[in-house]
Order: sequence, then structure tokens, then C-alpha cells
Amino acid sequence: MDALINYFETIPSSHRTVILFGGLAFFLLIENVAPFFQFKNNKIKHVGLNLFFTFTTILVNFVFAFILINASQYVDANQFGLIQFFPLPIFVFTLLGIMLLDLLGAWLAHWTEHHVKWMWQFHLIHHTDMNLDASSANRHHPGESVIRFLFTLMAVVIVGAPVWMVLLYQALSVTLSQFNHSNISMPKWLDTAVSWLVVTPDMHRVHHHYRQPYSDSNYGNIFSIWDKIFRTYQKVDNRKLVYGLDTHMEKENVNKIGYLLKAPFAGYRSEIKYSEKEQL
Ligand SMILES: [Zn+2]
Repeated sequence: MDALINYFETIPSSHRTVILFGGLAFFLLIENVAPFFQFKNNKIKHVGLNLFFTFTTILVNFVFAFILINASQYVDANQFGLIQFFPLPIFVFTLLGIMLLDLLGAWLAHWTEHHVKWMWQFHLIHHTDMNLDASSANRHHPGESVIRFLFTLMAVVIVGAPVWMVLLYQALSVTLSQFNHSNISMPKWLDTAVSWLVVTPDMHRVHHHYRQPYSDSNYGNIFSIWDKIFRTYQKVDNRKLVYGLDTHMEKENVNKIGYLLKAPFAGYRSEIKYSEKEQL
């Protein structure tokens, strides 16, 4: 445990880059060997577009990183935050901290983006992907990256997470997001077993169905427990799913960087979020 803490306390930027792109390469490789859906699209073009949004996400987080680190150092030094109130064994301290960061920094952020209209205008870019794979994980409009950064900042302060925990959480978060978006065909028994603890591709694919109410379910990123606790969990036969967003199903548009960057400001504001509800 000490070794883990020491490692994340001083993790070099190069290692963080390896975790992000190494994870992406790893999952894309498995997708190639055992895909769930056979996509007819140009995989390189698809990954390329999503990589653009991955770079903008990295850029936003890089620009604001010092705020997050300063806030984390401050709460840790002043023993402020939920996990700082009582002395806890280090394993419990770490697990509880990571779980609460996942709840407030990811699950709550994601739920809010689906329920606050102006935030949805940014988040919908993530949902316009009609071919879900590991590269879809970081397909976030830069505006959404800022929203998510603010939620992470709030989570770090409320939780009282030290710097090493924030960096450990971010490494887990990026890897699990790539995993749960990946186009991997996992044996049913394995998926079921793993989904008791973490969000699996089978669980998260439902969230990317093109219509409500399925797109308003399964918001989780790392731990699967939050959707079960807050009753936002839905189980659907993944073979029935259609990826994308019913208000944005024009293939030419949703594969264009310019269109996606402008989408939050392009006058869709008065539109109904989804056209109608569907029962699978
Ligand atoms: Zn979503």
C-alpha cells in the first residue's frame, strides 16, 4: 500500500500518458480480436476523431491541473473532508476515498449533465458516437471537460482527497472508462461477475442507446453500485441497441470535428432533448 501511495505521490507525467494511451491501445487490440459489434465504418477515421477530443480533454485538464493539486494539498494539510474526519485504516481510507470521488466526480457529474439542459448541450457530443469503442471514452467537448473538471474539483474538496489519491483515481477513471466503452465481446459469466464491482461494457452500452429512457440510465464510470443505489440501472440485451442520439443521427455531421465543436451553440437549445421514449 505504501509503495502504491509513494508511486502516485510522484507519478511522472510520462507514466500518466502511458496509462492513457497504453490502455487505449490495449483495449483497441482486444476489440480487434473479439469484437462485440462488427462495425462497417472506417476504424482509423473513427479513432482519429475521438483522439482529437481526447487531446482537448487532456489540454483542459493540463491547464487547470494546478488548481486541483492546490485544492487537494490544502484539504489534506487541514484535514478537511469526509474521509479526514475519523482515523481510518489506510485500505478503508483509500477505498472509501476512491468510491466517493467516483460518485461525486463522475456519477453525479454525468447525471447532472443529462438533467441540466445547457450541460446536456455539451455532453450530447459524447452521445453522438454511432460506433462505440474504447476511443469513445474521451470523446468530450472541451466545454464538457471544463464541467467535469469543476465536478472533480468539488469532489476532491468534499472528500478531502490527498494528491496521491486524486492521481490514483484519475488513472483508474480513465482506464475503466476505456474498458466500459470498449467494443469487447466478454463471456456472459465473466461480465456478470465483474459487474458486481465495476461498470462493464455490457452495462454501459445501454447508456449509449440512441433513445430514452435507456440513455438516461447506467451513468456509472468505475463502480457499478451507484446506479443500483440510485435506481438508474437498466439491464438490456445489448444486441438490441442502436448507438447514437436520435436528435443527431446524420452520419456526415456527427463525424465532423467542426460540427461537434459548434453543436452546443448551434441553436438546438429549444429542441426537445429526445424525440420520444422507447421500450426495448
Ligand atoms: Zn451520458
